[in-house]
Amino acid sequence: MNKRFYLIKDNKILLQQKDYGFPEQSIIQPEIYISQIEMGIFENALCWAAIPNEQFQEPQGFKFYPIKNLVRNTDRADLKLAGLAGFLCNWILNTKFCGKCGKENEMHLTDKARKCPDCGMMQYPHFSLAIIVAVIREDKILLAHNKNFADGMYSTIAGFVDAGETFEDCIEREILEEVGIKVKNIKYFGNQIWPFPDSHMIGFTAEYESGEIQEDGIEIEHADWFSVDKLPQIPAQGSISRELIDWFVGKRI
Ligand SMILES: [Zn+2]
Repeated sequence: MNKRFYLIKDNKILLQQKDYGFPEQSIIQPEIYISQIEMGIFENALCWAAIPNEQFQEPQGFKFYPIKNLVRNTDRADLKLAGLAGFLCNWILNTKFCGKCGKENEMHLTDKARKCPDCGMMQYPHFSLAIIVAVIREDKILLAHNKNFADGMYSTIAGFVDAGETFEDCIEREILEEVGIKVKNIKYFGNQIWPFPDSHMIGFTAEYESGEIQEDGIEIEHADWFSVDKLPQIPAQGSISRELIDWFVGKRI
């Protein structure tokens, strides 16, 4: 079986310069790894995420690119694998020591986990769950400009799920907190790993119920209802936020 390697360094991934292709086994030598982890079998290739050591030099024709660049330049499957590799390598670096007794962790031999050799505590990778929702009011969609967005960029409302919250609870709370409105008829749309650094976005659609837009002024600087023919600048294709907006556009045409 082919092996495919996803080499991660400082949140960047090693790719071929000509076509953003991933390196095959022949390019990469095992002795350059600080650590590696098996990701699983995808498209008939056994995929590994690995962190190269300081001496590692980019092979001819290859370069480290920010993983987020792949949102625009590859399909969803490649973005998912590159993102997963980045996430797992960050997780390895961030769980170097046991949180309970402070000893240095080891990779578990069979599980995708870190294990403390002293007290036996296991640490598994986890994603932070976040909701993202397209709220529709008649023939318009709710889009908001977050203070962290580029100038003029608008997107659907998103937020992290709190401990003990259902997705529906989270959607109702986030939308009320950020823009002051109530929603109804929440429906599942799809999901996407968003490993920047460790989110898993769960997408929904919802209908407006009541209230007038009042931005929180903390996260959301401006929000409004937009019709298909007057959309502002929106996220690039490849993100679930864009898929939600595209769904709205397709639905309305
Ligand atoms: Zn321990």
